[in-house]
Amino acid sequence: MASPSPTAASAIVLDETGGPDVMSLRDVEIGAPAAGELLVEVHAAGVNFIDTYNRSGLYPVALPFTPGSEGAGTVLAAGGAADETTLAVGDRVAWVGGGRSYATHTVIPSASAFRVPDGIDLDVAAALPLQGLTAHYLIDTVYPLGPADTCLVHAAAGGTGRLIVQMAKLRGAKVIATVGSEAKAELARSAGVDHVIDYREHAPTDDLVRAVESIVGPNAIDVVYDGVGAATFDAGIAVLRTRGTMATFGNASGPVEPITPLTLMPKSLILTRPKLFDFIADPAERDQRWSEIIDWVRDGALDIHIGMRAPLADAAEVHRALESRETTGKLLLLAASGPSDLRG
Ligand code: NDP
Repeated sequence: MASPSPTAASAIVLDETGGPDVMSLRDVEIGAPAAGELLVEVHAAGVNFIDTYNRSGLYPVALPFTPGSEGAGTVLAAGGAADETTLAVGDRVAWVGGGRSYATHTVIPSASAFRVPDGIDLDVAAALPLQGLTAHYLIDTVYPLGPADTCLVHAAAGGTGRLIVQMAKLRGAKVIATVGSEAKAELARSAGVDHVIDYREHAPTDDLVRAVESIVGPNAIDVVYDGVGAATFDAGIAVLRTRGTMATFGNASGPVEPITPLTLMPKSLILTRPKLFDFIADPAERDQRWSEIIDWVRDGALDIHIGMRAPLADAAEVHRALESRETTGKLLLLAASGPSDLRG
């Protein structure tokens, strides 16, 4: 049954795009869910780099805008007629897509929700959908890794990077990783990397290339998973083997400059710029990815590092930290206000 009247809620809202301070916490009303939608009480919203692109205007959004592409919480109402296959009031869910997760309550498409099994807490569930499914499609589909492969993973202590590392190790691949500090190197090691490079000490492209080659030799990387973008793209191209794959999937340091296809010719490289939603559009594929991730979490094969928990009101601080390279692992905004823990 649909909720009969709007729900009073608090949400982060921005009326213009720009720096972190364009976000403010306001009282809002959330409309009743329509058929195919769920009203959820948000436990935690996951913070992702894409939220900063929406906030800054790099990826355009319709204003006013509430950020937040994922979260976890409890179903309060379901729109339309219920049947036994759909999610119901009281179910614990996580979701990706649909937006507006930086809020105490939100309405999501039921097709964007996953049931959270018993034994998995909602903090962990909120950390999984966007970065977990991204890491999964990268290692499973963009370039299906196996024991004979060597991959290069940038920003390996970050939310997505640390999951890519762990999933790559689960597939038996060798992992060379880059990070921006010694503390981050330690976190990457705890995820299982074989070799870690502090790329702040090897900032010029040639230096980073030499650092990778000193470990694996020239032209020896099968696939580069690059969420850093502008700062690392050229080095990735240089270390790939003939017919290797460059998966440039993010812009943390800025978007990659346009290149000519002839750049790829000397080594017959494959270049792809994928995005998550094209790898979870098919419900069966999406559910298969989610259940593999959940099995890994249940088995203890995947370690979910939550580097920061903060109340909704601190969204601007969390964005500032993320964009300043100060964070590690997953960042969560807790909808029920509690003490801020900006260090994790
Ligand atoms: P992270 O937790 O990885 O944080 C970003 C990290 O990038 C930083 O901690 C930092 O690590 C590194 N970095 C390098 N240079 C910079 C810079 N100039 N400014 C800021 N950070 C920098 O974030 P996410 O896991 O949320 O996202 C990682 C990337 O993956 C983003 O580019 C995001 O857009 C992309 N992404 C793409 C998806 C897709 O499907 N295409 C889906 C999900 C994420 P260090 O200090 O170690 O360098």
